[in-house]
Amino acid sequence: MRIRFWGTRGSIARPGPTTLHHGGNTSCVEVVADDGTWVVLDCGTGAYELSLDLRRRGPLPALGHLLIGHAHWDHIQGFPFFEPLYDSRSEWRVYAPGDRIDHLQQTFARQMSPEQHPIALGDLNASVRFRVITEGSFRVGGILVTAQYLHHPALTLGYRLEADGVSLVYATDHEPHAVPLSGEQSGVLLVHPEDRRHVAFLADADLVIHDAQYTLAEYPARRGWGHTPVECAVDYAVAAGAKRLALFHHDPDRDDAAVEGLVATARTRVAGAGAALEVFAAAEGQELELRGSAVSRAPIGSGRGSALLAVAPPPARTVLIAENDPGLSLRLAAMLRDDGLRLVLVTGLEAALDAAHLAPPSLLLLDLDVPRSELLAACRKLRCSADPRLREIPVLLVAGSSPSECEVREAFEAGATDYLARPIKLTLLRSRIRGWLLRSQPS
Ligand SMILES: [Zn+2]
Ligand SMILES: [Zn+2]
Repeated sequence: MRIRFWGTRGSIARPGPTTLHHGGNTSCVEVVADDGTWVVLDCGTGAYELSLDLRRRGPLPALGHLLIGHAHWDHIQGFPFFEPLYDSRSEWRVYAPGDRIDHLQQTFARQMSPEQHPIALGDLNASVRFRVITEGSFRVGGILVTAQYLHHPALTLGYRLEADGVSLVYATDHEPHAVPLSGEQSGVLLVHPEDRRHVAFLADADLVIHDAQYTLAEYPARRGWGHTPVECAVDYAVAAGAKRLALFHHDPDRDDAAVEGLVATARTRVAGAGAALEVFAAAEGQELELRGSAVSRAPIGSGRGSALLAVAPPPARTVLIAENDPGLSLRLAAMLRDDGLRLVLVTGLEAALDAAHLAPPSLLLLDLDVPRSELLAACRKLRCSADPRLREIPVLLVAGSSPSECEVREAFEAGATDYLARPIKLTLLRSRIRGWLLRSQPS
């Protein structure tokens, strides 16, 4: 499997003399399997560099697969300038998270509207087919792709690619679920089940390309922005037993020297952990080849359900929001209505439990200013309910500003499905709600 980095920068392109080595273009990584299966991970401004390189190559493969982690600008801005999309001999399959194909197409069409780009999405010469995906696996040529949600203020998927006896994980735009903001034990706690699940997604990978936009020192001021401190990227990769870690999604504020500083920080942390992980910072134009060893583990994607969602829109689902702050509640509700969800808004715990018993919703959000013990008691009550719909309903708890390891553990023992710390950004909350609804959607 061959991998080439065409864009490594996060958030916004940052070209110039201070970023010449690691590059100024945003996310775009090319992967080619031994059988020729051609995959492009994200389509940030780096996709234009890839286009220039393709002009120099011979005839292109007829079929390409574009895997989009999410549609923030830094991951799709290169799409209108990706030249193979203008080649009538070319066929592209575009996969991205979501639950409605029309919404996905609109997202790409918007950045090619007449006000923003001279050529419309519908006027591309190549055959371009969109597919909405959720967590699960699917095959593209000789590659088994497994998708898993990341923690980001937009519905975002990470991708694990397994082929040729090797595995590559592309996990960018992800924030750890539980990071203590002070104390000696700074780093990913691995007490939150979602962090442990992330580690399992990275398990034994030959290469992990991971968001490492911040440092732990910078993180408190950027909590909720959906990115990983470099120290936590190391913690994840070490816990997963990964072989190599490519630091990725470099902050636009960081020049080449500062990115190399992150590598030094990461290597010190690896040495402190007594691990053999190799760390480097992804650089634009850098090429790697992954070779399988004689003993390869079974692909983790082989036991998972299909990630490919049906083209038909999903059935409308109801979310019960228990929220003290009416302003916040209304703004969240407006966002979720745009996602086609039905909403029930309440302001107290008793009212939430009564509403849930009366008409069990598809998801319950508890963001209430009541003692934590009462929230945990409510979770236990739901999990002991005679109604199986209430026993299994996803319950999202928002509590505490910097939860301790013990508090996180107690929340899950009480039956919470997810545990989020305050203050929480509405965009992050929306993406958690959407992700949990998709994860709990009957197939
Ligand atoms: Zn990004
Ligand atoms: Zn993003």
